[in-house]
Amino acid sequence: MYINGGWSATKETIEVKHPGTGELFRRVETVGKEETNQAIEAAHQAFVKWSKIPAINRAEVLERIASKILEKQEELAQVISSETGKPITLSRGEVKKSGEYFKWFAEEARRVYGETITSPITNKRLMAIKQPVGVVAVITPWNFPLLMMARKVATALAAGCTVVVRPSSESPCIAVELFRIFDECELPTGVANLVIGNANEISNVILENNKVRKITFTGSTEVGKHLMRGAADSIKRVSLELGGHAPFIVFEDADLELAVENAVYLKYRQAGQVCVCANRFYIHDSIYDEFERLFVQKVSELKVGLGLDEESIIGPVINERAISGIQDQVDDAVQKGAKVLYGGHRLNDGEYAKGSYYCPTVLSDVTEDMKIVHEETFGPVAPLMRFHSEEEVLQKANNTEYGLASYFYTNDLSRVYRVSEQLEYGIVGVNDSSTSIVESPFGGVKESGVGREGGHGIEEFLETKFISIRIN
Ligand code: NAD
Repeated sequence: MYINGGWSATKETIEVKHPGTGELFRRVETVGKEETNQAIEAAHQAFVKWSKIPAINRAEVLERIASKILEKQEELAQVISSETGKPITLSRGEVKKSGEYFKWFAEEARRVYGETITSPITNKRLMAIKQPVGVVAVITPWNFPLLMMARKVATALAAGCTVVVRPSSESPCIAVELFRIFDECELPTGVANLVIGNANEISNVILENNKVRKITFTGSTEVGKHLMRGAADSIKRVSLELGGHAPFIVFEDADLELAVENAVYLKYRQAGQVCVCANRFYIHDSIYDEFERLFVQKVSELKVGLGLDEESIIGPVINERAISGIQDQVDDAVQKGAKVLYGGHRLNDGEYAKGSYYCPTVLSDVTEDMKIVHEETFGPVAPLMRFHSEEEVLQKANNTEYGLASYFYTNDLSRVYRVSEQLEYGIVGVNDSSTSIVESPFGGVKESGVGREGGHGIEEFLETKFISIRIN
């Protein structure tokens, strides 16, 4: 743990294993209730100073962190791939983007504005100022273990908040590396604190402690709801980036090759374990057969292997629980009439024997009564469905409690506007697969979350104070 500017260890440890081989990667010390309260206290005390430092000086520290992250790109990428199984090329990209978030929010720190308000009374002057919310608890998932911390911590620190970070127990090592960087960049004592350990124990302390004024969480909708309920007792602010179940729609006038290429990328990168992964494929009846042929062909060429292997396009899934969840959705679909066009099973032989690998899978004849159409699929399985009209596909695409990302392909300009406006999602990619950049707002509607990160996300870490001044 890293509390109040110092490292310390406890006797309790957890083992972090390579998902691709089952071998031990590192052992990490864990903490409990007492240390979490200490971390919150340290952040609370540090807030007094950090929130008053001019933004330009806070920005200098964030710039140093950004540079250091980029300097250590390869080293950090190796850690991410080792503990999550993520293909190394994706891990390098994750590190680069994490550095970019620190740089972006270093710049955003200097663009916090209040407003003056026209007074209805002659002898009054009115204004609204922005101030940091206070101590922020940061709880992150394993699938983008560095990026999610970077996006949240950079924003909070830029706003003048201090943080207590609890990373996923599946991927704590990269959190330790990030805090080494904070240490090397001389982030002032207590401004950022790290606690690794049991999720329930630590989050209960966070929920109960009134000094924590905000929780920013990325993870499943189920845990997000639990934290939102718990936050109600002391009216903590919450930002929640939760699960997704993205529709991928291909209209009859689309560029088919582009659509197929992007569909494969959006479904299978990181073995389908991304919140904005394409999860439900709706293809217009008139081009369905050709799409299916090209799609299956491309999927059959994907190389599955160790995350650390430069050639791997798809790595292992995170653990055995993930394999069971994926198999359950596939079995349910097959039992209800779906056809397996490719895959449909875990990979067990040879190089795959000791890891948790699932074969990239394509299902056809998928119907609305199957689990895979309604539950988030965190794995490399693509369910293909036909549609006949724009109205029908919009109804199906929106028929979900999720609302994070959505994608559609068309060359009809009027349709671009019509469909973009009617999709009930926080993010829409039109003929585009790359919808998460530092400059843009990122987040979901409905049960995919509240709040936005990236872009002007600094607002989520600021309170508005109204000041009314009577003058003579
Ligand atoms: P998860 O909800 O199981 O875990 C997320 C974090 O919450 C982990 O650190 C975990 O240890 C912790 N946690 C678990 N139980 C908790 C509890 N009772 N109280 C407090 N914390 C608890 O999710 P995951 O498996 O790590 O990540 C996958 C999920 O995250 C998917 O649903 C995915 O869509 C979502 N996700 C969303 C985004 C986004 O930006 N919207 C990004 C990445 C992942």
